[in-house]
Amino acid sequence: MLITISPGAPESTRSALLLAAAERGLAAQAMANGRGGEVVAIAGVLPALLGDLPGIDSIQAVHKPYMLASLEARASSVVDVGGVKIGGGAPVIMAGPCSIESRETLVDIARSVKAAGATMLRGGAFKPRSSPYSFQGLGVEGLRHLAAAREETGLPVVTEVMEPDQVEVVAAYADMLQVGSRNMANFPLLKRIGQCATPVLLKRGFSATLEELLMSAEYIMASGNPNVVLCERGIRGFDAAFRFNLDLNIVPAIREVSHLPVIVDPSHGTGRRSLVKRMAMAGLAAGADGLMVEVHPNPEQALSDGYQTITAVELAHIHRHGLALHEALAGLDDEVSDDTLTIDVPAPITAFRDETPVVLSA
Ligand code: PEP
Ligand code: MN
Repeated sequence: MLITISPGAPESTRSALLLAAAERGLAAQAMANGRGGEVVAIAGVLPALLGDLPGIDSIQAVHKPYMLASLEARASSVVDVGGVKIGGGAPVIMAGPCSIESRETLVDIARSVKAAGATMLRGGAFKPRSSPYSFQGLGVEGLRHLAAAREETGLPVVTEVMEPDQVEVVAAYADMLQVGSRNMANFPLLKRIGQCATPVLLKRGFSATLEELLMSAEYIMASGNPNVVLCERGIRGFDAAFRFNLDLNIVPAIREVSHLPVIVDPSHGTGRRSLVKRMAMAGLAAGADGLMVEVHPNPEQALSDGYQTITAVELAHIHRHGLALHEALAGLDDEVSDDTLTIDVPAPITAFRDETPVVLSA
């Protein structure tokens, strides 16, 4: 059940609910509801008399299975990553190499993506590669390079963590923990990440449904970390022409049921450099709160995913048009009613009609 506590309710109300849940062996988690109050999600039902506690606003017994991630729990979330706000405002661009290759190249890339408009740096230190013979990433050394690049540029950094035991060391360096597509359903990892406060970028598994994605977010939130951003990064299709298919339906569909911010990754979502620019725009048009893009000064030479990697100059182009698109679409989700929408029926076009009578010569 979902219990909303109004702003200004005594602290004792929340503790009484959490205690009552614990006494019955029910998992429970409290979270801010974005309206000044709090919401408590309880995996089960508490006795009705607890509804009489001071400051209880509403009790929902029927709700989505992803209680904390659902729009029923709270208003739209904004996740703060080292001062960069994801959700509700201008699109956030996270950019950088697929894999961290060396300190020098990473710092150079960080400078160039910053100049191109990115507000976060991405880069993989622990890499989930399809082949055990491919470059597996620099590990902790890569994390140190990330910290150096942040130091140089001020950009907060996001990087992948693959195992529960890595969470502590990755969180010591990163501003945001990335859960990769292949680990979206690694529940021990999600639970461990949920125990720290570091924001999380949860990438959709490439065969995961919308509900499975939100249930994975729920694992993190139910463990105590509400700072989750979702990422659509392409699903498996039948056409070998594309590495993955960017499933943009899910962006507005998530908005209908969840308060979590959502970003789009057109690099993995297409697997093709030439498609990244247009699909980045499509992602923003679908309502994404930001983009994650793979960038390298020499994509052909990148140690991983070079075929889907663009340059910083191309990123600047995406950034410029992305901001213009975002502005052009402001208000698209506003309610429309008879008062706000007038339909101008165009007058029939006559200007081009040739009304000169045809004279047939004898
Ligand atoms: C990545 O971001 O480099 C990555 C491996 O992403 P995904 O988990 O979406 O494949
Ligand atoms: Mn990659």
